[in-house]
Amino acid sequence: MKSDIQIAQETQELPINEIAAKIDLADNDLEPYGYDKAKINWKAIQRSKENNHLGKLILVTSISPTPAGEGKSTITIGLGDAINNQLHKKTIIALREPSMGPVFGLKGGATGGGMAQIIPMEDINLHFTGDMHALTSAINTLAALVDNYLYQDNSLNLDPNRILLKRGIDVNDRSLRKVTIGEGSKFNGIEHQSSFAITVANELMAILCLANDINDLKKRIGNMLVGYTTDDQPVFVKQLGFQGAIAALLSNALKPNLVQTLEHTPALVHGGPFANIAHGANSVMATNLALHLSDYTLTEAGFGSDLGGQKFMDFVSKHLDKKPDASVVVATVRALKYQAEGSTEHLDEENLDALRNGFKNLERHMNNMRSYNVPVIVLINRFATDSENELELLKQLVEEQGIKAEIVNYHDAGSKGGIQAAQAVIDLANSEKASLKSTYEENDNVKTKIEKVAKNIYHASNVEYSDKAEEQIQELEKLNKDKLPVIIAKTQYSFTDDKKLLGAPNDFTLHVKGINLKNGAGFIVVTTGHVLDMPGLPKHPAALDIDVDDNGKISGLF
Ligand code: ADP
Repeated sequence: MKSDIQIAQETQELPINEIAAKIDLADNDLEPYGYDKAKINWKAIQRSKENNHLGKLILVTSISPTPAGEGKSTITIGLGDAINNQLHKKTIIALREPSMGPVFGLKGGATGGGMAQIIPMEDINLHFTGDMHALTSAINTLAALVDNYLYQDNSLNLDPNRILLKRGIDVNDRSLRKVTIGEGSKFNGIEHQSSFAITVANELMAILCLANDINDLKKRIGNMLVGYTTDDQPVFVKQLGFQGAIAALLSNALKPNLVQTLEHTPALVHGGPFANIAHGANSVMATNLALHLSDYTLTEAGFGSDLGGQKFMDFVSKHLDKKPDASVVVATVRALKYQAEGSTEHLDEENLDALRNGFKNLERHMNNMRSYNVPVIVLINRFATDSENELELLKQLVEEQGIKAEIVNYHDAGSKGGIQAAQAVIDLANSEKASLKSTYEENDNVKTKIEKVAKNIYHASNVEYSDKAEEQIQELEKLNKDKLPVIIAKTQYSFTDDKKLLGAPNDFTLHVKGINLKNGAGFIVVTTGHVLDMPGLPKHPAALDIDVDDNGKISGLF
């Protein structure tokens, strides 16, 4: 089979206004970025908010990721194509836009694969419509304004050593995790320690993905906690007056981006917080727009039910005009065998025992999603090396638990690779059985919220807090912010905070290392285990395989 990028490059896109017409958007509702990409303008967004229509919302999540590959984006896109083109229902796929850092690091993007992709994949994976660049500029402008305030004024006595805002760059660069700025003469600013986080982990990315409009964007930026004064008082962005300028820098990036799949289904690709260190879903603006403009909206929550899935159900859905009507858990035979064996070596050989053993990982993810009281279906993403016995056994294991499973082949066959599955998914979404039940109560304090997620979703037996985390919780209580929702930063590879513990471990301790208030986003980030907000590059970065020819044709992306 051809590579993902070859398939994508050989597909002739339709002009973006033809894609827009499928969801009743006219030429003057668009701000085109060339031939095949457009932002949706404010007039059209406003009009959509005023229509009373809300389609069904389908959330796609998966088992714990492994090097064997799960194909969550591939399935979301293939399923969207099947609902749109085989069942002829008005469909929009709402996805996160990829961060550029990992594109040059580990192989793997966010535009799907095989015959189920969104295009133009090179643009989407690189500069796209410039939203990531706008965010990076906004993050660093805010940091520079704060440092300039320290240098020029500082009437509030902001402590240079207690500034919480980080700088940002959309590159995996471990050497920027800790930096000293303002070194040298006093004309170079106030010397202090600073650090960089990857753009997608910054609070401004979360804010962009949660804001409803420019006013909300500005208000949230104003509420960001900058740091503390020398006498322990919090300082918020609005006290320094920078919210207008930063909102101005981000106002264009707040508008969702329209592209298409290989089969010309409309896709909104907008905003991209990671699901292990941030909230892991595309923008609320894009999902709400999709709900108002289509009958079926498919969206994806990063990684498994313990990360993006949990965050979507307990947090993101509260910001949407509609709660999910159904959820899909993507699983593969290969990844479940890996969950049992811990190695990629013999995944091409039939091994029913390993599959039976590894199934407990899927079982926990299915039960997690079921605990939200939203109907669940499992889609088994078929790989060419899976045996019929394995596929049938997996379907049977799922169905023994009272959950429907369908085997799909969207990667090789496009929308024709799972028509029956698409029908089963929309039947479930139309069953009216969803009634979202959260893992925790809004009024629970921070420790109760963490413990409920740790026990009910991860299956930990207890939670331990570092001394620093305990102090930070006291700080939150003082600020009266200890009841905000929690975003737990945890490895995606395990239900525990140790990435090596595969399967479905029980009775372990979750180690909370730090608690950080993201007051503009409106949540508390809880860090566990060894989670980093600035990834590094591997020994053989994907960059070594990426090239461009004399005609500007890019190769080696995936
Ligand atoms: P995820 O969203 O879970 O990270 P992706 O959908 O991005 O996964 O897929 C990761 C890679 O796996 C892509 O390169 C894709 O082409 C490949 N892939 C997905 N499904 C299949 C399949 N059924 N057969 C072969 N390769 C697949």
